[in-house]
Amino acid sequence: MKTISVLGSTGSIGTQTLELCRLHPDRFRVTALTARSSREKLFEQVREFRPLLAGFAEPVPYSEIPEDLRFCKWVMGREALHAAAAEIEADMVLVSIVGIAGLQSVLDALDAGRQVLLANKEALVTGGHLVMDRAKAAGKPILPVDSEHSAIFQCLRAANGNEPTGILLTASGGPFRTWTKEQMMTASRQDALKHPNWNMGAKITVDSASMFNKALEIMEARWLFDMPPERIHVVVHPQSIIHSAVEFADGAVLAQLGVPDMRVPIMYAMAYPERLTTGSRPLDLFALGSLTFEKGDPVRFPALRLAGECLNAGGAACTVLNGANEEAVAAFLRDEIPFGRIAELVENALEKLPDLKADTIDDIFEADRLARLQVRHAMA
Ligand code: NDP
Ligand code: MG
Repeated sequence: MKTISVLGSTGSIGTQTLELCRLHPDRFRVTALTARSSREKLFEQVREFRPLLAGFAEPVPYSEIPEDLRFCKWVMGREALHAAAAEIEADMVLVSIVGIAGLQSVLDALDAGRQVLLANKEALVTGGHLVMDRAKAAGKPILPVDSEHSAIFQCLRAANGNEPTGILLTASGGPFRTWTKEQMMTASRQDALKHPNWNMGAKITVDSASMFNKALEIMEARWLFDMPPERIHVVVHPQSIIHSAVEFADGAVLAQLGVPDMRVPIMYAMAYPERLTTGSRPLDLFALGSLTFEKGDPVRFPALRLAGECLNAGGAACTVLNGANEEAVAAFLRDEIPFGRIAELVENALEKLPDLKADTIDDIFEADRLARLQVRHAMA
């Protein structure tokens, strides 16, 4: 029996994780659940999973917690995330909140000696060096939940001394894969939220449409697998069946395949190094008929170019890209800017904020703050 604390339990990854806990009640016990503000959803989860601790990042008065749920400890605000990451008993901490907010939680969990299951890619994008150093010091690998990185992680386990020489990072291409730059410029919220293969939270769905999600994943792969950006190749694969692949020195390429279903990588991280059933349906290659591959287009999707540029620039460039993108996506989701403005605002922030350092977590939060400010300034 493993104990698990779930940060962001009301989200897309969080609810699928709880579904897996429900499927294997003899293997996982939930000890903490947190949300930002989704009250009814969290209340329902607490009622079912009976954790030791629960909390909202946006404080809710204790008087508004239903009486039948007061058996557990309720913590509010920033403290809620800290308590769930580092204080409450848990073998594993799943960080599935959105955005740079995940960085502190990952560091807290590692410092407390927890096994981190990482969905929140922004923690590595902004503080990859800090996270990997702490994970090394703690002697616990970060277990990726992101499907591509889970695939790469699984393939690397078969290396047996065969040197990995490159990563083929697959991308569905999102809903605008075949759209022209002009069409994309004025694409609506509804268009961007229609992902062809995956059902995910709003932020990452917009990032999939702009391919900023893939940019963040290149950065994530760079840190998780210590692979230089020029050896991480984006392969647009619209069917999302090959979840990524690793090239090895002997010429072998190992890939992990399956229907697009996040429960598989989530469960892989939860049960690691074992494997348990997930309820995912089997892959039928005959029904699919063919798998196709394309090059990503860095002209229509500037994010693909910016990822390598930011990694090579070093300092806080990746944090600036991430912060500017978070701010721009939020504005797009509020219908304040057209889709095409997102990449423009990110590029503008990168131009205006070169050479920021990212040595400490304070540097990183400062770079994030400046990037957001720059986006708001450019939008005004
Ligand atoms: P969702 O938006 O569906 O859920 C986010 C969860 O985190 C919710 O529980 C939300 O609470 C909570 N939350 C959001 N912001 C904060 C905050 N600032 N502080 C505390 N809690 C917060 O997101 P996803 O599940 O889609 O994604 C989670 C992370 O996993 C992201 O980093 C994403 O990039 C990554 N990821 C997601 C994949 C997917 O398939 N969804 C695939 C690969 C990676 P509330 O409900 O109250 O708002
Ligand atoms: Mg992914």
